[in-house]
Amino acid sequence: MIKACEICGAAFEARGSAKVCSDKCRREKERERKRRYREENREKEAKRHRRYYEENREKEAKRHRRHYEENREKVRERQRRYREENREKEAKRHRRYYEENPEKVRERKRRYYEEQRLTRDFFRRLAMADAIRKAM
Ligand SMILES: [Zn+2]
Repeated sequence: MIKACEICGAAFEARGSAKVCSDKCRREKERERKRRYREENREKEAKRHRRYYEENREKEAKRHRRHYEENREKVRERQRRYREENREKEAKRHRRYYEENPEKVRERKRRYYEEQRLTRDFFRRLAMADAIRKAM
């Protein structure tokens, strides 16, 4: 029986219940089916991804790190854009993180200020040594 391919529309001699004309169109049809499935099952898919990630934490962390290292600029640009487009959400996320990890945040701040202090002292000593050298 002559049918029109569901994907490309070309007429073809269909054997049995064939709906597409070629392997290429069969692959395309499969791709579309998967895409449609993902769109119609977003929640389920998100859950599946989360579970997979939790069960393969190390492997995925490694994969992410490698991806980041190979696409540093692109990733940073995307993160920056995301933050700009989700200011409220990000602020809320930060607030929640702070509320849940106050000691971690304090520790990081302390370390930051300590580093700043060391840097400042270093340059101060450098300037002083320089002034002394000039005075001699
Ligand atoms: Zn086709």
